[in-house]
Amino acid sequence: MSMRLAAVETFPLLYPLPQPYGDANGYKYYRASFLLRLTTEGGLSGWGEVTGWLPELETEFKRRIIPYLRGKNALKRTRLVAHLKGWHHRAAAGISMALTEIAAKGAGISICELWGGRRRDKVPVYASLQSYTAQAAWPEHPLSQAQEALSQGFRAIKVKIGAKTFGEDFSHIQHLQGSLSPGQEFMVDANQSFDQATARKWGRQMLSWENLAWFEEPLPIQQVATYKALRSQGGVAMAGGENIKSAVGFLALLQQGALDIIQPDPAHTGGLDEYRHILGLARSFGVRVSPHSFDGALSRYYALLAQACLPPWSKMAQDDIEPVEWDVMENPFTALVPLKPKGGQIHLPSGRGLGLELDEELICHYRWDGSSHWS
Ligand code: MG
Repeated sequence: MSMRLAAVETFPLLYPLPQPYGDANGYKYYRASFLLRLTTEGGLSGWGEVTGWLPELETEFKRRIIPYLRGKNALKRTRLVAHLKGWHHRAAAGISMALTEIAAKGAGISICELWGGRRRDKVPVYASLQSYTAQAAWPEHPLSQAQEALSQGFRAIKVKIGAKTFGEDFSHIQHLQGSLSPGQEFMVDANQSFDQATARKWGRQMLSWENLAWFEEPLPIQQVATYKALRSQGGVAMAGGENIKSAVGFLALLQQGALDIIQPDPAHTGGLDEYRHILGLARSFGVRVSPHSFDGALSRYYALLAQACLPPWSKMAQDDIEPVEWDVMENPFTALVPLKPKGGQIHLPSGRGLGLELDEELICHYRWDGSSHWS
């Protein structure tokens, strides 16, 4: 069977949000997904997802990525991805996903089997909220969203800080913290908003919150020494690294003991092989990994598969694995991958390649028509 690539299709999807929501980086006014499907001459296909600005991705794929890929051997994945990384880092990540699925299908096995076999059939997920909205009451609206997520069976929720004053944010978080039941946890994400003094102030307040799972990115992630100092301030677990592109990018944080939990994103790192290398690196340092995966349902699914194959982080946690981020905000693309959390866990299917079919009706329905909506 010929493994040469015959077709490269792109599927840019767009959904303007009726009610914007956001974090300390500002509001999101739309949700988007850029899917791609590679098909070999022998008829095997694989799906990938790229995160980015749709017009730029469409142009880049048409201009040189599609012409480059046509006719290439799909089994030379690491070489193709290494070349494409030099052109477009995130496109290379999406292409590596599709090439991985093709490799698994070609061997007649699942992606997890390609990676050595999964160690568990279900992976926990936590509900990830964008706490700020333009219209809704503050902080009643995010608090009620958090309660809704918990009532759906999530055991942990992540909320945002950093877009309002310390007092306003603190009041929101204090209410949330006090409203959780035993066994429920929360995480706080500042999206790199603070200076050192503010981060320390938050850190001191957090010391008494036993149900806080982690404090995420209070500062720019390059400030390794400050992360280390914050971590040594007390018992609050520090997490971060969602925008780091490579295993090398995590090295300083790991070597200096700056984080308890690293958060690579399979759509942000340079391909799934690099992503899995990062997971292995974290295990070598005895550090936990809880992937960032807010930017797409398919890339999140790849994060779930990788998590299913990952050894436990300690002898004390043999039956446990770190959770994957689950977007609970309004986003029709969540349904692209037909899996829903039950009791805060995703039960993974088995089967060749991805082991499931993407919702192609949904892909047709939300296909971006190329019109301008960006201003
Ligand atoms: Mg974050």
